Amino acid sequence: MFRVTILDGYIDEPTCLGVPPYISPYPRYIAGAIWNFDKNSQVFYVTIDQIRNDNSLLDVLSKSNLIVVIAGMSVPGRYLSGFPASPNEIIFFLKGLSKPFKVLCGPAARYGFGLSGGKKTREIKIVEDVFDIIVKGDGEVVIYELLTNKFDVEKTNSSQCRMDANAIKDYAVNGSNIVNQHPFYPDYLICEIETYRGCSRSIVGGCSFCSEPSKGLPDFRSIESIIAEVKALYDTGVKHFRIGNQPCIFSYMAKNAGKTEFPQPNADALEKLFKGIRIVAPDLKTLHIDNANPGILARFPDECKKIAKTIIKYHTPGDVAAFGVESVDPQVILKNNLKASSEEVLSAIKLLNDVGKNRGNNGMPELLPGLNFVFGLEGETKNTFKINYEFLKKILDDGLLIRRINLRQVMPIPDTKMFKTGNKIVLKHKRDFQRFKRQVRENIERPMLKNILPAGTILKSVYTEKNKGKVTFSRQLGSYPLLIGVPGRLQLHSFLDVKIIDYGYRSVTAVPFPLDINHASRETIEALPDIGKRRAIRILANRPFKNKEQLVKSIDDPLVGEKILKYISIIE
Ligand code: SF4
Repeated sequence: MFRVTILDGYIDEPTCLGVPPYISPYPRYIAGAIWNFDKNSQVFYVTIDQIRNDNSLLDVLSKSNLIVVIAGMSVPGRYLSGFPASPNEIIFFLKGLSKPFKVLCGPAARYGFGLSGGKKTREIKIVEDVFDIIVKGDGEVVIYELLTNKFDVEKTNSSQCRMDANAIKDYAVNGSNIVNQHPFYPDYLICEIETYRGCSRSIVGGCSFCSEPSKGLPDFRSIESIIAEVKALYDTGVKHFRIGNQPCIFSYMAKNAGKTEFPQPNADALEKLFKGIRIVAPDLKTLHIDNANPGILARFPDECKKIAKTIIKYHTPGDVAAFGVESVDPQVILKNNLKASSEEVLSAIKLLNDVGKNRGNNGMPELLPGLNFVFGLEGETKNTFKINYEFLKKILDDGLLIRRINLRQVMPIPDTKMFKTGNKIVLKHKRDFQRFKRQVRENIERPMLKNILPAGTILKSVYTEKNKGKVTFSRQLGSYPLLIGVPGRLQLHSFLDVKIIDYGYRSVTAVPFPLDINHASRETIEALPDIGKRRAIRILANRPFKNKEQLVKSIDDPLVGEKILKYISIIE
């Protein structure tokens, strides 16, 4: 029997995420291509984290006929539940496996290994000896051809891309079953869903740092194809989806896409898409979006307002439309052919605030903008940081809400205009960037978090992901979820409701709600408002409490006792 192992080293691209709890379309399409070729093939899916934790899995790899590695970060982030594969690690795990045919796919194969923002990608040469073929084109297309050619590398074009979006229609459905081998399946796994690729702004060259224009003009998947894929995944047991794999969700099926830089959004198409998803996946738990072009929202406010309302009608709350702002310095905008001026970004922020700021049933606002900034671009001066800071301050002072501000340094990617400039501007402004970041964290993000989530807000279905020291880091599942530190070591991989008690720069502190005071840990009790170590010890010494009155009596200050009642429950 033909055996394949897909080793997911995770990917992170501007328009696609595949780091747990996310699974990107790459492994799903590739599995679909293999099963399309031979439906009896055995396809194993394993993540780089599983191999790190259990080297015996290398046995599975060694017994395969084919190993497909998916890797590469072109916008590296900070991750909680998985860490992307490094080139050295891939070499370490694969070099001893001589028999299986080995293929590398994903952004690493196309652009090299991204290590961190501000640095050029590491050349692919480093892993060349380990792989039989490095796929510059689309993994699913090249692998299908490789199988057809009986592994004849000479006959196989490693740069081959799909003809059009229709080419992945069957692969997307047939490969959906692979998700049930993911360690986060079914309850904690989010499937990233593609609606199209390519950017309308390719016709004017696109933004200087972005790899998306190299994918050409927008090539939309049909509504039916996307819905069929969601249905297949849902039928397999997936409950969390992000319609995130595209440059701008508001531009899906836009009129004149490919003919004009800013095509007119198609509200009807988005209504059909989101409605169709809810029909085939009625009990899904997460339905979120990702990127949006603020230039589109600013130019077509009526259509975009309608689309935002449609999204809110069918999605789940806590949704984020990530605006690629990059910079509001007019010089930087001009020199890098960026998509929107500061006025346009501001009007797009206002539009989403008008429609999306109300709190949804999981405690988060329905739909808010997130802002992505990139530093180290052409035209950047020290004044750029001042201009961007003042812009953010204005947003805060105007009472507008932004769910997230992402500040990163450019990663010069081959085939982009910024590749020639490299990281020289990044190095020149290294200190300015660090200072700016600190200022934004302290003076913008923290007060913004307080505006979005006042103390006492209850957040529902928070997933416990990692214990670190005496804190449990948790998040709701979805697009750019807020990091929540819960004092105490809670059981991992479970869902709970929490109540917010304090704020970090980009995170909040919260306690489980309602807090079972008779069984909670000292660290959790200590974190309750005005309790602290001394009172927590007294509470522990007086447990168990039969009722709330007993609890209040055990605290030296009755006002403090009364204050914590709204956080707790008494379970004997
Ligand atoms: S608008 Fe700019 S950043 Fe967005 S996908 Fe197009 S080229 Fe890339």
